[in-house]
Amino acid sequence: MQNSFEVIKMAPENTNSILVGSGSDCVIFDAWGHADSWERLLQDRHLNLRAIYSTHGHGDHISASPYLAERFGIDWYLNHKDLPLILWSNFLLNSFGLPGFSENILSPKDLQSGEVNILPGIDMKVYEAPGHSKGGLFFYLASLNLLITGDTIFHNGFGRTDLPGGSTTELKQSISKIKALNLPENTYVVHGHDKDSTIGWLNKYNEYFA
Ligand SMILES: [Zn+2]
Repeated sequence: MQNSFEVIKMAPENTNSILVGSGSDCVIFDAWGHADSWERLLQDRHLNLRAIYSTHGHGDHISASPYLAERFGIDWYLNHKDLPLILWSNFLLNSFGLPGFSENILSPKDLQSGEVNILPGIDMKVYEAPGHSKGGLFFYLASLNLLITGDTIFHNGFGRTDLPGGSTTELKQSISKIKALNLPENTYVVHGHDKDSTIGWLNKYNEYFA
């Protein structure tokens, strides 16, 4: 794998996961689905998993994370304000037929605003974006021309704010934070669910992107 990314819709289809690779190393964003499915995919492609990053702590964005982190002995990153959501959203995993988490799962490392090198030649800017959840994050990977928004904004809408820790006021501020970055129009945007978009598309068609 050259330095590149791929959106992966792991079964049962719901969430957009993103595989970012550099040579034979890779990281996963929002590792949804069964850990076994990911393990097979990594084996098939001869990839070494180096870390997992989560946009937020809802079950449908982290289902495979603690299991993969344990199996591969790697770090899983999540903003710690979302720690209380991990066990709370077990019902969501069960509704998809996925195993829920027990109290003693491997805990994620805290991730806050800043810049981190995630793979050789790939730096990532991390932004805190509360609103959909308290610990929401979005990620910008300039070298890949890639923005990963999680559930803060969708190609044609925005994330719900009626779950624990949600706030419409904060969500609007977080969307404004993305807008204020003034990223290039052709920046590829992967949202937590549904279709991907670009900054140009959001500017033109998403009335909430303001
Ligand atoms: Zn969510």
